[in-house]
Amino acid sequence: MSASDSSTLLDVVAIDGPAGAGKSTIAKAVAFRLGWAHLDTGSMYRAVTLWFLDQDVALGDARAIDEALGRIHLRCGGSGRVWLDDAEVTEHLRAARVEALVSEVAAIPSVRRSMRDLQRAQAEHGPLVVEGRDMTSVVFPDARWKFYVDASARERARRRRGDIELQRGSDADLPSLDDVQRDLEERDRLDSTRADSPLRRVDAATYLDTTGVGIDEAVAWIVDLVEEDLTRDPEEGTE
Ligand code: C5P
Repeated sequence: MSASDSSTLLDVVAIDGPAGAGKSTIAKAVAFRLGWAHLDTGSMYRAVTLWFLDQDVALGDARAIDEALGRIHLRCGGSGRVWLDDAEVTEHLRAARVEALVSEVAAIPSVRRSMRDLQRAQAEHGPLVVEGRDMTSVVFPDARWKFYVDASARERARRRRGDIELQRGSDADLPSLDDVQRDLEERDRLDSTRADSPLRRVDAATYLDTTGVGIDEAVAWIVDLVEEDLTRDPEEGTE
């Protein structure tokens, strides 16, 4: 997993995988345990989607998109927190209207270009745990640790429905498991078939199937591996 020539690699743990596979939970916990920064790139695409919705940007209008991207002021904190123009929007990022449109917005090349620049800039500030769809393949192919986190579609839908229940409360009118699974699979289909940086599993990424596996186990495994690599090769470790 760590390439032999680690001097050219970044101190980045890059995690990709489909929706609901447990990437965010794992990335957050790994970052906490290592004392590194965490970047949830899905929340960035969600924030751009929210911005486009609020600004009534037509997705077919390339000039309007470029103009909106020029005006957006997006700031990310740890744990998927995001600010747009200094107003925190984190709690709006999982709204149904954002969820329904985000994969369409994320397929727009100019949007991806501008997110990519922001994401790479984050790694210049220090070691990073980053998760998304194209972290291992496009944004950080030079990450020292790469993972592809997966789980069965049913398991992913169950987790996603649990998140929705947490957000909206168990008394709310919750979507059925079948509906949640259908939406996730449609998002995965769009994310893995788009022309620009589709979700894919690169050879260098270690495959982790979290179906029926405690997330804690996956976290411990990644942290041990990173710490072992850093100890073995302190020259390239972080201070
Ligand atoms: O990870 P999350 O489900 O929050 O991501 C929301 C959407 O953002 C994904 O379905 C995908 O369309 C887009 N995304 C992306 N590239 C990333 C991260 C997320 O295209 N690196």
